[in-house]
Amino acid sequence: MSEAGQARPGTDAGGDGGDANLGREVVTAEQLRTRVAELGAEITRDYAGRAPLLVGVLKGAFMFMSDLSRAIDLPVEFDFMAVSSYGSATRTSGVVRIIKDLDLDLTGRDVIVVEDIVDSGLTLNYLRRNLMARGPASLEVCALLLREGLQKTDTDLRYIGFTIPPAFVVGYGLDVAERYRNLDAIVEYVGT
Ligand code: 5GP
Repeated sequence: MSEAGQARPGTDAGGDGGDANLGREVVTAEQLRTRVAELGAEITRDYAGRAPLLVGVLKGAFMFMSDLSRAIDLPVEFDFMAVSSYGSATRTSGVVRIIKDLDLDLTGRDVIVVEDIVDSGLTLNYLRRNLMARGPASLEVCALLLREGLQKTDTDLRYIGFTIPPAFVVGYGLDVAERYRNLDAIVEYVGT
């Protein structure tokens, strides 16, 4: 496995004069591995004897969900939603449109929403209300990243990977214009 700091696939951003749009590493690949394993163990304990349904929010959560699910020692099931928020490229407005809805019925299910990053919390707030209306037995949220101090709503996150400072980040599923999702670390985006 590659270590943080070495050149990464697709970007050559390992601090060796690669992509000028990328700044410092905010969360290293090693830190991601450790924390995802911890979150998986926590979920395994909390949901013992149950079969939670992981609901991934596309596209940003796909890599986190993939690794997280393999760290959960339970018969999990998967579904995905895709949402798009109206607003500028790097700021959400809170108006959310469902691009792809779930395939499965949530009635009576123990749902864990898997999110990449919670910034204002507006996207999650919308999702929570939308999914709660479908009658799940329980609904919790597992967010890989929480941006420090910017939440406009009470986010009520059961599982949080890392709290990060207010910089725009890419990697490990997170993009800018579909790029950088395959970085194995969370990296500050300093481009325009
Ligand atoms: P919120 O509604 O909480 O303000 O925004 C959440 C969504 O905005 C995330 O699911 C993600 O799609 C996008 N987002 C927020 N911050 C970042 C960031 O630093 N990098 C990337 N790539 N997307 C972000």
